Amino acid sequence: MTDTNNDEIIERNFDDRTEEDKEAFLTQTWCNNCQAVDLGMVEPKEYELNGVIIVEGKCKVCGEVSLTEVADESTDGEWEDER
Ligand SMILES: [Zn+2]
Repeated sequence: MTDTNNDEIIERNFDDRTEEDKEAFLTQTWCNNCQAVDLGMVEPKEYELNGVIIVEGKCKVCGEVSLTEVADESTDGEWEDER
């Protein structure tokens, strides 16, 4: 482990989300491997990477890791392309 890379990962607690939220994340998915939406995922975990909140899980169908970027309401407007 070194401190020289730029990928700053901050652990977050997926379980802090509401049941509704969790349900949405676990069902409204995009799988790159299957090239299909809403297949569902399991084993969710949540973290922040370089200021972007990401929910990561495994595709229910193929088991590949599926990432969902979360638009955080608190960043309001600063979400779009950084330049
Ligand atoms: Zn898949």
